[in-house]
Amino acid sequence: MKKELVVFTGAGISAESGIKTFRDSNGLWEEYDISEVATPEAWNKNYKLVLDFYNKRRKQVLEASPNAAHKALVKLEEKYKVTIVTQNIDDLHERAGSKNVLHLHGEIIKARSSVDPTLIYPIQGWEIKPGQKCEKGSQLRPHVVWFGEEVPEMPKAFKIVEKVDILIVIGTSLNVFPAASLIYYTRPSTPIFLIDPNAGNLEQLPVLKIIRKKASEGLNELVELLMNEHAD
Ligand code: NAD
Repeated sequence: MKKELVVFTGAGISAESGIKTFRDSNGLWEEYDISEVATPEAWNKNYKLVLDFYNKRRKQVLEASPNAAHKALVKLEEKYKVTIVTQNIDDLHERAGSKNVLHLHGEIIKARSSVDPTLIYPIQGWEIKPGQKCEKGSQLRPHVVWFGEEVPEMPKAFKIVEKVDILIVIGTSLNVFPAASLIYYTRPSTPIFLIDPNAGNLEQLPVLKIIRKKASEGLNELVELLMNEHAD
């Protein structure tokens, strides 16, 4: 039986692919006001501005490629049962070859109805245009979770993490809730590895080992360690 391993990723794992994080200096929130582009209120006030913001993000994602960190996680599947739980809305884990990816905050390459969340569509090209409608006649919106909206996949993620043998956390400021609370749902003895060059201390978690490096470099070391670990 393979050990179960969950990798919880944030914007930092895609930084080396050229996709900006949110909160680093030079991050996206220095250029944009969250409340103007990533909330239901913003959509109601000026949906064209919201579409434009996500169209630009989508274009950038389509032009980017998975980096060494995304690829290193695929290698772990040879020895572990791996689930990626990501806050990222890009599809770089899938394009690297990870088989089992749960998107907590949605997927930018998809559109959905603004009246029925079960109507989800692939996007042709990089834009959702004003006037593009779902089959119920409402404007299509990006298939992402905005600030102030529920995170429908959260209960599933908590369940996965509760029984995991190893948790790896990569490139997240652990500032966005409820997603960030995931790290407190493991069993008390489960080892947790955190890879982030700017990681805080999180001293309340005694099982935590912090690797203060970029995702590709930190994972290079960690994957080697985990691939050489003896199975129980
Ligand atoms: P965040 O911007 O709050 O934090 C990014 C973290 O990544 C920081 O702690 C930073 O130190 C770290 N980091 C920067 N460069 C790194 C590197 N090379 N290697 C490893 N770590 C690095 O991002 P977050 O915690 O994911 O914020 C949550 C929200 O941001 C989510 O809702 C997510 O949907 C959204 N987001 C997604 C993308 C994407 O899909 N690629 C990009 C930006 C933001």
